[in-house]
Amino acid sequence: MTDFSSQTILITGGTSGLGLAMSEAFAAAGAHLVIGGMLAPAEGAEISASLMEKGAASCLFDDADLRDGEAARGLVKRAEARTGAIDVLVNNAGIQHVEKVETLPPEKWQAILDVNLTAPFHLIAACLPAMRKAGYGRIINIASAHGLVASIHKSAYVAAKHGLVGLTKTIALEAADSDITCNAICPGFVMTPLVAEQVRAHQEKTGLDFDAAGPDLIKDKHPTGRFVTPRQIADMALFLAAKNAGGITGTTMSVDGGWTAQ
Ligand code: NAD
Repeated sequence: MTDFSSQTILITGGTSGLGLAMSEAFAAAGAHLVIGGMLAPAEGAEISASLMEKGAASCLFDDADLRDGEAARGLVKRAEARTGAIDVLVNNAGIQHVEKVETLPPEKWQAILDVNLTAPFHLIAACLPAMRKAGYGRIINIASAHGLVASIHKSAYVAAKHGLVGLTKTIALEAADSDITCNAICPGFVMTPLVAEQVRAHQEKTGLDFDAAGPDLIKDKHPTGRFVTPRQIADMALFLAAKNAGGITGTTMSVDGGWTAQ
């Protein structure tokens, strides 16, 4: 496994689901961590302590609300003041809302675009100057299979994730003159709090119990019939973050149980 002990990894939404799995994986690789999330400082401190136990060289929790661009840029400033340049930026924080477009509240549309797309823009813009100075950086955007294909009732999310894939390609080109890469990971369904909410809605619709409703929800999407695991996403992030992954940039890595092969 790559040793990340001399590197600082900033993971937005690093306190839950895929973000927490990535935080744990980079902690085990000895990294200095900065993790964001919408938690009370005490809860964030508890997660930071557990990441230190798992091997992180240091861990700083920051509760910046990424719906606000200034707050997103402030997160990078605070992180750099504590740790120096960010070596690896993982834009992972995301929110979802499932509703047909006619009744989707405009404020939900805006919040989904703000967190899933506009925050990565601010964070990348804020991290790049120090990365350029260092001549090195890895930017990993957690997009989705919905960055490549659409599903009904997810207009804002699909729009944001397609936008994030476009942003990924553009940043890759703009940074290509140094060893700075920008790639997107496109997960299929992973059982996290974000997806558990959709499973509960599917339960209500079908009358299935929770354990049966999950596989039923994904059966038309995942030819494997299995959920992707958070660790599988974390392993892809570790791979893209490695120094030796410098030849991979501007691309999408699908980890989606075969969804987008159909
Ligand atoms: P999650 O709900 O478990 O975690 C989301 C994280 O984002 C939390 O740490 C939360 O605090 C943070 N967050 C939310 N709103 C925020 C805000 N305004 N400011 C700062 N932080 C905020 O979700 P997850 O399933 O782990 O999703 C992580 C990423 O993976 C998201 O971008 C999501 O779109 C993407 N994704 C998830 C799946 C899946 O099946 N779970 C599939 C494809 C893509």
